[in-house]
Amino acid sequence: MSPIIELFSDTQTQPTEGMRAAMAGAVMGDEQSDSDPTTRELCRRVASMLGMEDGVFMPSGTMCNLVSILVHTRPGDEVIVDDRAHIFTTEAAGAAAIAGVSVNPIRTKRGLFTSDDVQAAIRPASRTSPRSGMISVEQTTNFSGGSIWPLEQMRAVRDLGQSQGLRCHIDGARLFNAVVATGVSAADYCEGWDSAWIDLSKGLGCPVGAVLCGSRAFIAQAWQWKYRLGGAMRQSGVLAAAGLYALDNHIEQLRVDNDNAALFERCVRGSTGLSFPPQRAESNIVLFSTEPLGVPADIFTQRCLERGVRLRSLGGYQVRATTSLLVTRQQVGQAATAIQDFGPRSAFALAGAA
Ligand SMILES: *Cc1c(COP(=O)(O)O)cnc(C)c1O
Repeated sequence: MSPIIELFSDTQTQPTEGMRAAMAGAVMGDEQSDSDPTTRELCRRVASMLGMEDGVFMPSGTMCNLVSILVHTRPGDEVIVDDRAHIFTTEAAGAAAIAGVSVNPIRTKRGLFTSDDVQAAIRPASRTSPRSGMISVEQTTNFSGGSIWPLEQMRAVRDLGQSQGLRCHIDGARLFNAVVATGVSAADYCEGWDSAWIDLSKGLGCPVGAVLCGSRAFIAQAWQWKYRLGGAMRQSGVLAAAGLYALDNHIEQLRVDNDNAALFERCVRGSTGLSFPPQRAESNIVLFSTEPLGVPADIFTQRCLERGVRLRSLGGYQVRATTSLLVTRQQVGQAATAIQDFGPRSAFALAGAA
């Protein structure tokens, strides 16, 4: 049997051979006292790519978001995000449980809001309202289908937020997918923001890690929260070496991933029984709905898996496909063919799924 075609998530990537070799040869020290040279180099590299003063290595993107919220807000504040933001939907309410802040989600179609939306979401100072403390944007969006914030729209949101005293944060889990898609540099996207981070363990293919960046003063505070939360490490150079390897060798792969997602979408858009948002896929994520087929996403993805294609159900009728270095262009075509066959009269329907 041919191997499963892995479109579940770019988090499923495993270290490549070259990456494993880089990890094996890593020079290490004690990260907790800032004396792991490889980790320091990684942090400097990412900070410089993002145009930020300083950076800190984190075990996960989730901790980057939580620590940023902890530094930028105080209990009783509100964080403004889009209504499918990872912070809102997928971080076990860490903002509430640990930082004591609530989330004020803006309803969006594609995960992108405007400065007018932010203006409407910011609460006028009052004895009775939560204080609006922070804005977070995802570049690229995850559960909104990989959409890319136009640079000008991001800047307008940042300017409006900062003019009203809010801290502005970029959840850049897949920032480099946007960079290779648009040609806008990471530093241009991050310019003027109070904090930004990238994930190493998504399309960049590392086993663990993310790097959070900001001003020196921000990173000093972020470090203390990381330590408090148990995120300080020891010989993290073995992980940071993977990150440095990825920055040298895997960024171009993201362009391939984006192209593969576009190809997948071109092939399956128009398949009987599936519906797609009007916008084309912009990065490595494709969302579609199985609603016209009348088959819930959980069942649809189960049937796809039986045909050798692993997709992610987002519940209801929403299905997400994500490309990464785990899928070749040829496999993308094969996956699309397997899915196209799922018309109302297909073997899929006859199998009793509907
Ligand atoms: C994956 C992801 C995170 C969390 O990153 P982890 O490293 O998995 O903790 C945060 N935000 C977005 C947009 C993501 O896609």
